[in-house]
Amino acid sequence: ILKTPINEPKTNNLIKSIDNPSDYKLENATLMIMARNSELNGVIYTIKQIEEKFNSKFNYPYVFLNNEDFNLKFKEKIKKFTKSNLYFEKIQPEIWNQPNWINKERQKNEMKLLKNQNIAYANKLSYHNMCRFYSMNFYNHPRMKQFKYYWRFEPNTDYFCNIDYDVFKFMELNNKIYGFVISLYDSHQSIKSLWTETINFLNLNNFNNKNLINSNAAINFLTENLQNPEKTKFTNGYSTCHFWSNFEIGNMDFFRSNAYNSWVNYLDSTGGFYYERWGDAPVHSIGVSLFANKNDIHWFRDIGYKHHPYTNCPNSNKCNGCEPGKFTFDNLKDQNCLTNWWNFEMDDSAKQIY
Ligand code: GDP
Ligand code: MN
Repeated sequence: ILKTPINEPKTNNLIKSIDNPSDYKLENATLMIMARNSELNGVIYTIKQIEEKFNSKFNYPYVFLNNEDFNLKFKEKIKKFTKSNLYFEKIQPEIWNQPNWINKERQKNEMKLLKNQNIAYANKLSYHNMCRFYSMNFYNHPRMKQFKYYWRFEPNTDYFCNIDYDVFKFMELNNKIYGFVISLYDSHQSIKSLWTETINFLNLNNFNNKNLINSNAAINFLTENLQNPEKTKFTNGYSTCHFWSNFEIGNMDFFRSNAYNSWVNYLDSTGGFYYERWGDAPVHSIGVSLFANKNDIHWFRDIGYKHHPYTNCPNSNKCNGCEPGKFTFDNLKDQNCLTNWWNFEMDDSAKQIY
């Protein structure tokens, strides 16, 4: 529980809201969601909150992504809840489906093992496709290509607090490349070789790929400063701590960069999205923590957010529907690793609040 009320943003140069609507220039940004037609109600549930708390002030466009065509009912219903432009987009099968060189026999055997260890979605091919798409393809989707910033959201998530400033302008004016709210450990079985393969990648080209690492990278966030061998022993040094990606705000110029792309394409070539169950959250997290400047990663402490089963409820009178100051995971503390971000990486000015 936080004692000091949260008062964001701390940055002085931020344009807080629209004083003169006709003059206001939006950032090149979109609200992005992947969903199935069957998730219509959950999508509406969350869009209502995003509109009320944030987007009705700005009218940023939405991009809806699906591996199938969205049906008429889906498209017509969504329109009722926002004035923004809506783009309903299909993900092409050659992007969505697993590459044909994946060894089906090996995949089947590995997934049987993961399933026996109760790793969620191990057996669900569409889930692997989704994670791979969010790891290495969403920013190159023809529709997404026109945008610089995205805010990813998911059906049935909650946004509790008024956001009275333009979060995309915040990203732009402060040179942020990635924003998150919640951070937690992953199941090590799902990403057994992700860190090993990352090290393999960095050692390529006569170790020259190491030069892709940012000189102010958030590496201690990933390795837990090597203080906790228990946490890193199954994964060859990665603590599995990651930014939860079901809410994230990002600058796609970063994801489109040579560093991120050559790394994630190397990862893909190992088949780990299918022989293991790599999530897009640890992939994004390792990517930004290695290849970006840690000062450009932002913890949005002021965004009240819930994706089952975790909640972040800021201590602020701008929030309702959650318990102010109730941080995350009150029953699931051992899974929370946000303190690693605070302790190892957060700059001192950001820490003053505690
Ligand atoms: P979890 O949060 O890891 O339990 O995964 P979710 O089931 O919430 O899936 C993550 C996001 O991808 C959600 O926005 C889902 O709607 C979406 N999603 C997952 N699988 C599929 C799929 O096969 N097709 C489509 N269209 N969306 C999917
Ligand atoms: Mn989800």
